Amino acid sequence: MKLVFLGPPGAGKGTQAKLLASDAGLLHLSTGDMLRSAIQRGTETGLSARSFMEKGQLVPDRVVDALVKERLTMDDAQAGYILDGYPRNLAQVEVLSKAAEIDAALFLDVEDEILVQRILGRGEGRKDDTEEVVRDRLTVYREQTEPLVGYYRMRGLLHEIDGDRSIDDVSSAVRAAVGGLIR
Ligand code: AMP
Repeated sequence: MKLVFLGPPGAGKGTQAKLLASDAGLLHLSTGDMLRSAIQRGTETGLSARSFMEKGQLVPDRVVDALVKERLTMDDAQAGYILDGYPRNLAQVEVLSKAAEIDAALFLDVEDEILVQRILGRGEGRKDDTEEVVRDRLTVYREQTEPLVGYYRMRGLLHEIDGDRSIDDVSSAVRAAVGGLIR
């Protein structure tokens, strides 16, 4: 089972992807986590990614695509996975479509003002979470990532879920959407 989570920053993709992954015994692959770990380890990928992440911009495709393609060939990814934060533009969709056949895309939507409040209220002390950067990340999302919703809808793979609810309610909706696919 190969799933993709789509949605703006702060919509709860990471939380829901983790919950579903542990429930369904699938690997959770977050490109944001992979990039943050690369930065901490001081790898070449981390060095290339850092300045983009700090500005709320997308890291160049060649960096992220290479990271994902390598990860998807590892043994533990063969039984399936949940992608969280990838693909994020149409060029990445193209790369992914050559590497894997996606079974479903789960789209969590939440309004911008609620997202800004959520992200700034997280208090996780993430460096990229100033209001200006959060708004930049939202603009990047609306311009580059939102078109992916139409792409997966056209292929009949999209499940749209209202993300402006409690974690439990969203999680139930996610399970209802993919329940038939996982067990
Ligand atoms: P996230 O944790 O998914 O919000 O990602 C944090 C940051 O990592 C983003 O703002 C981007 O700078 C970078 N990033 C994560 N995934 C991607 C991707 N698929 N393409 C480009 N940049 C990404």
